[in-house]
Formats: sequence, structure tokens, C-alpha cells
Amino acid sequence: MEKKVILVLNCGSSTIKFSIINFKKKIFLKGVIDYLKTSKVCAMWTHLNFSKEIFYFKKKITYKIGLKFIFNLLKNQFKKYYNNIIGVGHRVVHGGEEIKKTSLITKEILIKIKKSSIYAPLHNPNNLLGIKNSLKYLPHLSDKNVAIFDTTFHSTIPKIAFLYAIPYFFYKKHKIRRYGAHGINYLYITQKSAVLLNKNIYSTNLIICHLGNGASITAIVKGKSADTSMGLTPLEGLVMGTRCGDLDPSIIFYLYEILKIPIKKIKKILMKKSGLLGLSEINSDFRILEKQYKDNIQTEISIKIFCYRLSKYIASYFVPLNGKIDALIFTGGIGENSGLIRKKIIKKIQFLGFKLDKIKNINNNFQKNSSIHQEKSIPIFVIAADEEKMIASETFKILKNCEQK
Ligand code: ADP
Repeated sequence: MEKKVILVLNCGSSTIKFSIINFKKKIFLKGVIDYLKTSKVCAMWTHLNFSKEIFYFKKKITYKIGLKFIFNLLKNQFKKYYNNIIGVGHRVVHGGEEIKKTSLITKEILIKIKKSSIYAPLHNPNNLLGIKNSLKYLPHLSDKNVAIFDTTFHSTIPKIAFLYAIPYFFYKKHKIRRYGAHGINYLYITQKSAVLLNKNIYSTNLIICHLGNGASITAIVKGKSADTSMGLTPLEGLVMGTRCGDLDPSIIFYLYEILKIPIKKIKKILMKKSGLLGLSEINSDFRILEKQYKDNIQTEISIKIFCYRLSKYIASYFVPLNGKIDALIFTGGIGENSGLIRKKIIKKIQFLGFKLDKIKNINNNFQKNSSIHQEKSIPIFVIAADEEKMIASETFKILKNCEQK
């Protein structure tokens, strides 16, 4: 059993992440193909001994080429793991209302994932490509592919939080409602926070800010998702890398009716040209914006808007929590790495009982010490997102269940 491993594929909107993990959650190999859509595409991977390798592609690559690269890398350079892969765990962003749990990938499940692509157009098609290529390159494991959905963790959100105030018919007939996203990481962070707080997960109340290229926030009541900022699709909520987040729907009518912009183009504007990129007119990558924060007014305003929107959400999530919060958590690429963002947010919500420890906030070894609050504050933690470990452990569980049947 020690040798048996799971290949985890996380085909995101701007990256393909892959890892090889055993049932004890030991990571043997972890890699990412970054900046898929820019000219500086590279693949990076980290070995068990933490040594890193990097490969630069000569030009922009497609998702398909990226996946081919990963499977060839495993086959040629990591045979010892490749030959011991017993299953593949896939992150899938949207499972619609019908899929409420982790599932072995069958023809029926594939159809449902495809159907749910309308709710996650930047993600589900990439997730499907991951599955398709896994079936192609590992045909002997065709019945050992497992889908872990970001939406299932949010299936506990009550109707008062998941319904939109539009005619009820649209929910009854067309299932238009809030679904949320980032659920795999929210589950992981909730488990990890309960351990840090030394509390039973079912009595743990949290507000978790998942701030990556896609960003969302979730209120966790007694270990379960009670409300979240992403909606029918991952477009709603916070200001993101290229997505607009919350918006007056009338803006869409204005763009369409008055400015005569075709609907396809409007979609592209709101999904790919808005957020930090749209506001800054420079970049969606937070690392680049942070560097120019002091020198460029446009960058400064985009970061300020990002923080303002997030602070408003944090304050509003005291309502589902009934004011009883055990900790506030930052996770995701920006949440884990940007002390600036954390400082700006906490400053705005100090009145709620949060007090930042400025020294701890700029510490960069949160693996060892994740708290960044002062003694008399509501706890604030920084916890690295780890969807991959969660996906691997869920995949092992499903494959074990199948063996026992
Ligand atoms: P996703 O999984 O949604 O693609 P990630 O969680 O990997 O996104 O986060 C990507 C974001 O995190 C980018 O905006 C990136 O600039 C930001 N980020 C990554 N590292 C750092 C860092 N050291 N400092 C500030 N921002 C960072």
C-alpha cells in the first residue's frame, strides 16, 4: 500500500497543478504549469527532497499541450511513481445541484459535468480536458478516475442564502441559485483550523478568505458552509484577477442596449478583462501590482477597491455567524503571500475585534506558525491552500469503497 499513489490533477483557469500523493498524504512530487495564456509559459516541479526543476516553453502553449507535457514528464522522468499510480483525482469546479458528493467518473457523471459547464465556463471545460487526457494517457485506469467537486461543500448553504430574489420559477425549473466555489479548499481549511483552535469541527465558526486569481469568502457555521460570495457562477462576489465580482445587473443592459456591445463580448469583458486587470489597466497578477502599489495611482486604487469589497463581506458574514466567530483565515496565493493585503483588510475591520500583529504578519513561514493576531484579538490565521491533499484523500476513500463492493 505504501507504494501506491494517486495522481491529482487540478486544471484551473490559469494554471494546471499536478501532484503525486500516497494514502498517508505524503507528497512525492508537486508541479504546476503557470501563465498558460501569456508568452512566458513555464512548468515547475518540486521533488520529495524539495529540489526544484523548471522548464520554459518556447512559446505560448495550449491546455492540451500542457497536459501532454505532464503525462510525458511522469512517464519518462518519474517512472517509479508513474507505475504505481492506482487512480486519478480530478478537481471539478461545478457539479450543479444534482451532484452532492465526490464521485467515481462514469459516463453519467461526465454528462453532468459537461452540463454544469454553463455555470463555470472558465473552469469545467478545463477540468473535462484533464479527465479526457487522463483517460487517454492512462487507459488502464479508465475506471479509477474520481471527481471532487468545489460545489459539494456548499450544499449545506440554506435557502435564505442561496436563493436570488428573482421569480422562484427560475430556481424550480432552471436551478438558478448560488452554488459557490473553492469548496475543496474550504473543507481542508475548516479541518485544519479546527485542529489549530483545538476545537471539534462541528462547533467551529469561521470566516475564510480564499484569495487567489479567483477569490471568494465563506462563512462556516459549526463546520459547515453557511454562505459564500461566489454565486451561480464564479463571477459573483469579490474583486478578482480578471473577474468583476458583484455588479449592478443593469450595467449589462447598458453595455448591450446603449453601447451596443455584443453579449459574447460583454461576457469576455466581465470574466477576463475586469477585476484587478480592468481597474489597474496593467495586470491581473497581484505580485506585479503590489510592486507598483506606491508609484501608480491606478494600481493603488485597484488594490484599495479589492480590500474595501473584501472588508465589507467580512463584516456582513458576522450575520450568518450570529456574531460568534472563532477565527478569520487567509488562504490562496494572495491571502498566503501578501502581508500588504492582510494589513489593509484588518485595519478596516479592527472595530469588530481583530488586531494584527505586524511582525507576525510579515513572517513568511506560516507552515510553522500560522497566527498573525495580537493576544487580545479574535484569532487570525494564514493557512496555505492545499486542495491537492484533500483531493488525494477523497480519491483513496472512493477507490477503497469500490474495492470493498
Ligand atoms: P488560482 O489557484 O486561483 O489560479 P492562486 O491561489 O495560485 O490562484 O493565486 C494566484 C494569485 O496569487 C496571483 O494574483 C498571484 O500574483 C498571487 N501571488 C502569488 N504569490 C504571491 C506573492 N508572493 N505575493 C503576492 N501575491 C502573490
